[in-house]
This record gives sequence, C-alpha cells and structure tokens, in this order.
Amino acid sequence: MKRFLSFLIAMLIFPLPLYAENNTAKEVWGGFGKRDNVYSCADTDEKVIALTFDDGPHRKYTDEILDILKQYEIKATFFVIGKNAETYPDKLKRISDEGHEIGNHTYSHITAEKTGKSNFKSELEKTHGIIKRITGKEPVLFRPPTGYCNTLAVKSATEMDYKIIMWTVDTKDWAHSSKESIEKTVRSHVCGGSIILFHDYITAPSPTPNALSKIIPELLEEGYRFVTVSELLSYDCE
Ligand SMILES: [Zn+2]
Repeated sequence: MKRFLSFLIAMLIFPLPLYAENNTAKEVWGGFGKRDNVYSCADTDEKVIALTFDDGPHRKYTDEILDILKQYEIKATFFVIGKNAETYPDKLKRISDEGHEIGNHTYSHITAEKTGKSNFKSELEKTHGIIKRITGKEPVLFRPPTGYCNTLAVKSATEMDYKIIMWTVDTKDWAHSSKESIEKTVRSHVCGGSIILFHDYITAPSPTPNALSKIIPELLEEGYRFVTVSELLSYDCE
C-alpha cells in the first residue's frame, strides 16, 4: 500500500505518460523550437532524419564521411566555412556532385555576437559566392556558427532568403566524445524529423567517421530514412 501511495504521488509530480506523449523532436534537445524562419527539426511523424556536418571541408575527414554516406547511399547536408571551401574546392565539389546539400556557415566561422551587421552580411555573401562559383548551385540554408542565433544572425540570413537551421540532437563530436557516447546520444534523442549535428572538420583524431559507421546501419535497420535538410523541411506538416 505504501509503495502504491508513493507511486500515486510520483505520478502526480512527474506525469510520465504526458511527457512521453510530448516527447517529440521539438521538445527534446536544445529548446530551440521553430520560430521566425529558424528550424531545429521538421514536424513529422515519419521516420525521416537529416544528418548535418559543420565547419568543413576538411583535408581528410570530409572524404571519409562522404565514403560512408556513399556506402549506405544516403544524402546529408554540409554547412561549410567559406575559407575552408576556398582551400579545398575539390572536396566541396565532391559533396555537391554526390547529391548532398551545401549550406552557408559564414566565411571565417564568425558569430553574430562578435561582429557588426555589415561584416556579418559580407561573411555570408562571400561564402554564398564561393559555393556558387565552385558547385554552380546557390545555397538556401544557413547555420549560425556555434548556434549563436540572435536577431542580427536571423535578420541577415533572412534578407538573403536563407532558412536558418539549428539542430535537434548535438552529438558533441566537436568535443571529441567517444564513438559510444555519440551513439548513445543519437539513439536516446533521435525521432522522426530530427536534425542531427555532426562536424566534418575537427582537430584530429575525429570520432565522427567511426561513429557514423556504427549509427547509420543501426538506424537504417530501424526504418529511418536519411534526407537533406531541405527535403526534411518539406515533410513539415505545419
Ligand atoms: Zn561551426
């Protein structure tokens, strides 16, 4: 009886079924939600997700990641830094040629917190031009460096007709988390509509390629489909 009363009290304090019901991508991670042209997930019950890779292209890891994506025939989205795209144009071209989406991540990974409007806008425009020149395609997505998404970042990107893309799940690969930890983070937070944050540019050694080799086949087995961010947002039912 005492145990039953404790259970009743616990249910009043922690209404678990309600929490589980609301436990969609929107509420799970980061608390960004969707607002004014800023997206952290798609509102869908279908098992579609988007892998995203920031800060590249990288001399070594971009190719390793592209090889894995090719092996499983899945598409992803790369938010590139203009400076790195200039350094590794062949890798940027490969990303595009293999059907992945490319988004703008500023020219020098500058945050809107640390710069004025004209400088921030010119970082976006410069990178836009580099992507267009190398791939022949105009990017339509922007991800703010470090996720610093203030009014200046939103306004500047929106003026250029970009959608601003945050994420649902931060794998923390940037902190050199272990392959096991990355896998656990993804598996405990992923659901239909999730945008998952990885990096193809990390100081060595990167755990990302190994983690992907483990996670992708597992999620495919569970029925998830991997799409680009623009495709994912087309599933949004709002
Ligand atoms: Zn970044």
